[in-house]
Amino acid sequence: MNPSRLVLLGDPVAQSLSPRFQSAAIAAAGLTVSYEAMQVSAHDLPRVARELAAERAGGNVTIPHKAAMLALCAEVTPVAQQIGAVNTFWVEGGKLFGDNTDVGGFDKAARNVLGSVDRRSVALIGAGGAAAAVLGAVGSWPGATVRIFSRRLKSAADLAARFGDFVRAESSAAAALHGAMLVVNATPVGMSDGTLPFPIADLTPRAVIIDLVYGKRGTPLTRAAAEAGFVASDGTDMLVEQGALSFERWFGFAPNRTVMRTALA
Ligand code: NAP
Repeated sequence: MNPSRLVLLGDPVAQSLSPRFQSAAIAAAGLTVSYEAMQVSAHDLPRVARELAAERAGGNVTIPHKAAMLALCAEVTPVAQQIGAVNTFWVEGGKLFGDNTDVGGFDKAARNVLGSVDRRSVALIGAGGAAAAVLGAVGSWPGATVRIFSRRLKSAADLAARFGDFVRAESSAAAALHGAMLVVNATPVGMSDGTLPFPIADLTPRAVIIDLVYGKRGTPLTRAAAEAGFVASDGTDMLVEQGALSFERWFGFAPNRTVMRTALA
């Protein structure tokens, strides 16, 4: 802990907002550690991980290295093991440790918007890394169930099988959305244009929508859902919460989340 410096490993990495809001939180805490984006190819990742461990550095990992980093860590948390991905690393006793704070980040963001999460019926759209983090969180909600849809049924079925009985794969978005009181978009749809991951008309009345995509004024999905009268929140909350949990791993205390949010805005 108390790393010599912090880096964000990814490829590409320049678009990431983590350096901006982590640097603001680090400065607000009176620390002088740097946090910088570092573009690394898959080929170079093992060497870079060794060098960072020797320097007692820490940091985050983003697309496409989260799964590869898991294999490079000497020890990982049970959560990272379950998800099969590391997004946060640090060095203890000369060894590289890994965690996955996307799980706790989604859990906190969902509780912020829902209050109680018990017995939620959840529709999950998408079956990639972020969807796995959502399942890692929902798996700890008493009595909650998930119906997952992805454009390739096999991806959804494979992911459901990894997490157990509370998850079922569906062959259409409409079937997954039917009766769901929490709907999570875990695809990148809406990131670069105005498209929606599913029709708003398929939502159950009073459903709450969480889009893991984030944007300055929400996303196409959260804007369309809000216009139709639904409570909808974008991925900013999860971004801040996963970042706050990473910060706690590195420094042993919680950052100022308001500073993080302000830096993002
Ligand atoms: P990923 O591992 O690449 O998975 C993406 C999933 O979306 C896959 O199931 C993929 O299906 C599906 N998909 C991709 N393009 C699609 C399209 N045009 N139409 C329908 N489905 C599509 O990505 P990820 O890491 O899970 O990230 C997903 C999104 O969550 C990204 O936008 C990312 O920025 C966001 N995210 C946000 C946070 C946060 O803190 N707010 C954290 C993590 C991720 P195929 O397998 O068929 O391609």
